[in-house]
Amino acid sequence: MTPDRYVSTRGNAAPTDFPEALLRGIAPDGGLYMPGSWPTLAADAWAPGRGYADMARAAMVPFIRDALPAGALDRALDRLIAGFAPSAVTPLVRLEDGLFLLELFHGPTAAFKDLAMQLAASLASEALAASGETLTLVTATSGDTGAAAVAAFANQPRIRLIVLHPHERVSAVQRRQMTTLDAPNVLNLAVRGDFDDCQRLVKGLLADETLRAHSRFSSVNSINWARLAGQIPYYVSAVSQLAAMGETRAPVFVVPTGNFGDAFAGIAARHMGLPVAGFVAAVNANDALARAINEGVYARKAAVETASVSMDVQAPSNFERLVFEASGRDSALTAGLFADFARHGQVALPAELLAALRAEVSAVSVDEATTRMEIAHAHASWGQVVCPHTAVALSAARGVDRSHGPVIALATAHPAKFGRDVAPVLGFDPDPPRVIRELGDRPERFEVIGADADEALAAVKAFAP
Ligand SMILES: *Cc1c(COP(=O)(O)O)cnc(C)c1O
Repeated sequence: MTPDRYVSTRGNAAPTDFPEALLRGIAPDGGLYMPGSWPTLAADAWAPGRGYADMARAAMVPFIRDALPAGALDRALDRLIAGFAPSAVTPLVRLEDGLFLLELFHGPTAAFKDLAMQLAASLASEALAASGETLTLVTATSGDTGAAAVAAFANQPRIRLIVLHPHERVSAVQRRQMTTLDAPNVLNLAVRGDFDDCQRLVKGLLADETLRAHSRFSSVNSINWARLAGQIPYYVSAVSQLAAMGETRAPVFVVPTGNFGDAFAGIAARHMGLPVAGFVAAVNANDALARAINEGVYARKAAVETASVSMDVQAPSNFERLVFEASGRDSALTAGLFADFARHGQVALPAELLAALRAEVSAVSVDEATTRMEIAHAHASWGQVVCPHTAVALSAARGVDRSHGPVIALATAHPAKFGRDVAPVLGFDPDPPRVIRELGDRPERFEVIGADADEALAAVKAFAP
């Protein structure tokens, strides 16, 4: 099957095209969409000096082909790049011999989710214009996803966005990023409860049949294939920037990991022929993924709160894509394994599968004290102020052998978004980038509701009847 046809990891959904995978999010059988095969990047795809849009086009066209109106991807890339600060879009910064940071936080909300969300929003509204439909999106957020989604979907034609965040439990910067845009198509609900309450309410809304009567209705989380596709280009860009520095050996990427979407995009790039020596998934104390890879048992534990809050995930949704790929695309095995996990909260990984998973990625868990030490170390050694997520990756990256090639840690958020955790370590507040300074004290728009399914449904129906 070609890369522009999409199959479900659970094998019980009809193959579909890019717009349908994008607008549905999850496959009808509960699985995740995967491209029918991996396209091959041309050997000059990561040649030094290529521009980001050019590399992104080469990496993404095979997944779309002619399923979107002509020029849709070009327009989406133009908009993406206009929203980013430096010319490299995702600059590669050398820290010391063989150790690099790939900075993914120069976009409109200063975190890496902008890169894929901006593209997904543009492509979704192109798809809807072509089909004549409308789309209502709903998402729960602990901060970064909601901010990136609001910035991306604000004022997009044919789309309404509803974001649920836990009232008084997201940072002031993150809340203002969500609530200060003048966008009548966005509804912010502040839920008196925690992030899990928000997720529960979103699940309930997604299951409500009456909401589907007039509009497509889905979620904007990282199970969406379009978001993963939008993250492949920066891996290509990293290798191109290495080549421009005269480094042609394949790098190891160390990826700070929550739902494993960022890391899986890198794995996809390697399957497409990008020279990569390996991937390390760096997780915080929420370590289900690391225990699965290192101990062979995928087991749910209660989530704990850490400084790298955007990685506080216990059952990483994109682990299912990794299992599907590592099992040789065995949908029966994948469906069985995740059904067992759903039922029992844990499942042992067969030996052959485990070996194949370990060939794709290794995993390291970094605790809170080490994360704080790493923030201090990055500042003392290289004058770099890093966010807690980036610190988790850097700590793991410094443990990787550099004798065979360079090591690249992904820097996923600007430290000023996480001043509450960074300032106590360094003794000063990180300088905010322009996109945060400009939030100023614009008026905020949000509605406070209880952690109650009926209240959530009423608020959504009042906004999107
Ligand atoms: C979402 C997020 C991550 C984790 O990305 P996944 O794709 O969920 O693994 C890491 N760092 C930051 C700042 C994030 O917002």
